[in-house]
Amino acid sequence: MSSMARLEPTRTQVSARISAEIAEGALERLDAREILIWGIKNFHPRLALSASFGGPEGMVLLDMMHRIEPTSRVFVLDTGRLPQATHDLVDRVRDRYEKSVEVLLPEASAVQAMVREHGANLFYESVEKRQFCCRLRKVEPMKRHLADLDAWVSGLRREQSVTRTETRKVEIDHVHGGILKLNPLADWSHDDVWRYVREHDVPVNRLHAQGYPSVGCEPCSRAIQPGDDIRAGRWWWENAETKECGIHVGEEKEGSGI
Ligand code: SF4
Repeated sequence: MSSMARLEPTRTQVSARISAEIAEGALERLDAREILIWGIKNFHPRLALSASFGGPEGMVLLDMMHRIEPTSRVFVLDTGRLPQATHDLVDRVRDRYEKSVEVLLPEASAVQAMVREHGANLFYESVEKRQFCCRLRKVEPMKRHLADLDAWVSGLRREQSVTRTETRKVEIDHVHGGILKLNPLADWSHDDVWRYVREHDVPVNRLHAQGYPSVGCEPCSRAIQPGDDIRAGRWWWENAETKECGIHVGEEKEGSGI
């Protein structure tokens, strides 16, 4: 879709028109590809996919976006604690799609101070400390990056967890300055995702084949057993209600400053 005419409106103009479109509810009836076409047409190159490279959803969206617009943007949060399999997948994507992946790093001095004060594995000690680590390594780098975008794309699906059942396909992200957040896979099932992966030979994290439906940081992810909840391997020592890193929730849930 490189040749697609772009509207290139100012951020203010988009906000008024897009707000009306969201309010009408018509966008919620679009399918995933249509949502991405709409987003790219309106926002590229100030729109980017946030992919963890640890779940098939982000890879499905990366593939879809690339087919629509080969210069579509994707970024990953390199927390400093990712497993090698995730780094390897980033390299595979670069080769397969000839695409540069924007790698976001946490602020070194903040991580250094946290580790000096609380140790490298503070996340096992309490929900607050886990959220503190996620805030430094994920939430804050993400915020800095989104401050320079008008819209972002996430792989959230409603059936993933109790914290995601209200996910809309298009929503205003008040946590990140009122930019737009697109969740094109909101109504997709687990089977829908894997069907797309198979049909389009989409590269995915090799740890999925070892029982990890969702791969995050190495010390905070593990394989699950048959019948377990799909997110049971993430922060497995916590209740389901607290299992968000802060990227997809409001400020009040992002965790304490400790
Ligand atoms: S997932 Fe674990 S290691 Fe990664 S940022 Fe969150 S608490 Fe820290």
